[in-house]
Amino acid sequence: MTIPEFSHLIGGHCVRGASTFEVINPATEEIVGLAPDATVAQLNLAVASARAAFPAWRDLDLTERQAKVAALAGVFAANIDELKRLLTAEQGKPLDDAQVDIMTGSYFCQLSSMLTPPVEVNEDSAERLSVTRHVPLGVVGAIAPWNVPIGLAFWKVAPALVAGNTVVLKPSPFTPLTTLRIAELLREMLPPGVLNVLSGGDRLGPWMTSHPGLDKISFTGSTATGRKVMESAAATLKRVTLELGGNDAAIVLPGVNVAEVAEKLFQAAFGNSGQICIATKRLYVHDAIYDAFADAMVALADTAKIGDGAEQGTRFGPIQNRAQFDRVQDLIADSREQGHRFLTGLDQAVPERGWFIPLTIIDNPPSNARIVQEEQFGPVLPLLRFDDVDTAIALANDTDYGLGASVWGPSEQAALIAERLEAGTVWVNEVQTVSPSAPFGGHKQSGIGSENGLHGLLEYTNPKVISIAKTAGRGVNGSST
Ligand code: NAD
Repeated sequence: MTIPEFSHLIGGHCVRGASTFEVINPATEEIVGLAPDATVAQLNLAVASARAAFPAWRDLDLTERQAKVAALAGVFAANIDELKRLLTAEQGKPLDDAQVDIMTGSYFCQLSSMLTPPVEVNEDSAERLSVTRHVPLGVVGAIAPWNVPIGLAFWKVAPALVAGNTVVLKPSPFTPLTTLRIAELLREMLPPGVLNVLSGGDRLGPWMTSHPGLDKISFTGSTATGRKVMESAAATLKRVTLELGGNDAAIVLPGVNVAEVAEKLFQAAFGNSGQICIATKRLYVHDAIYDAFADAMVALADTAKIGDGAEQGTRFGPIQNRAQFDRVQDLIADSREQGHRFLTGLDQAVPERGWFIPLTIIDNPPSNARIVQEEQFGPVLPLLRFDDVDTAIALANDTDYGLGASVWGPSEQAALIAERLEAGTVWVNEVQTVSPSAPFGGHKQSGIGSENGLHGLLEYTNPKVISIAKTAGRGVNGSST
């Protein structure tokens, strides 16, 4: 069988890589396709194409840009069968989850096209009219991760385009193929150069963050890489939006329906095999219900089907790549060495081929354990017992991360606890709902800036003030000129 080779999208053309790299199916360890490995010359060409396309795109009426971005949405839906199969093959997630990922891209094209940057009147006095508009930045470099490759890429692309920027998008080298295929499908729907998609290995990201032709980097990935992005972008004072890692805590109070809440938090912790930035990564459960809650979680873990995402009935796929698999295994090994008690995981069977890890639940490890302190980004969950709410809040906040958190219990009490948790989003009696009109972003070392809604749109703009004197011929100090 021939292995399909994918292309970059540069200046409206599908461009082959001078060389390619293999993209591996994490469930079968087979090659899914060959991705182009961008050279510096190809990056320069993509940036130059985006730069050349910028003035005309910026000068289009907002309504025209909105209509063009809204029209992209239909392409995702029209090709969903092909796209979800490709995404499952390269990412590992079950087909239904792949569909959600792709349709999130579609949805954000639609939603972003409904946003309008405000025009603010700062002063309208006898002396002057001062107005703020939000103008595009220029060329945006968008860098996406491998866990939700399409949804998170189009969280960036769609608002950046609506705001009037042109874009160079880089998918993760672990999951570039579906993004490249979508780029090919969208090719004729936008003027050449407005959206460019480049795939490459480890060198391409740093080339982008240091490239003088990019005006902003919108980055989603780990906190460690986010620091490098910010450092590199500083040389040319690029704007940055950084959506980084998390170590989300959930606090479960007595009085909840244990079966119902356990089911929701089970999905929040293990969905996408734990590879979600806002996965529940530390689960604090009140002593009064801890044992019943633990039993419910274990029962769910032990009956869930883990396997190739392409197979009917699979609920949880593999870890997406070998390096992440090794990281999660290392955390599990550390817990074993420390003598933590495993409620389930160690003996559960998973497919031998592929990077599979059983759903693993650890019973009340100490607060300073690595599995509590570090972002696991995999299907391993520490259950933590508490009997004093103040202590649970202090422990939940005792982290450099601040992406999300959730509280479960009587609404009034839970809402008061939510006020005290340090995170960009705190859910009460729900989790992981992302409102398209609410800003999504991290506090502390989980990020800088936000995505989605008007806040997200404005991150792709500079405020520009026009101040018009109403008294003709008067200078700034009021003197006659
Ligand atoms: P990663 O940081 O390894 O890579 C993210 C992207 O950055 C990839 O495209 C990668 O090729 C690129 N990259 C790598 N080194 C770079 C460099 N020096 N300069 C520029 N770009 C570089 O992250 P990942 O492993 O793909 O994703 C997992 C992490 O992302 C987790 O920590 C997760 O919590 C986080 N994440 C955060 C959000 C959010 O919205 N806050 C969403 C999803 C994932």
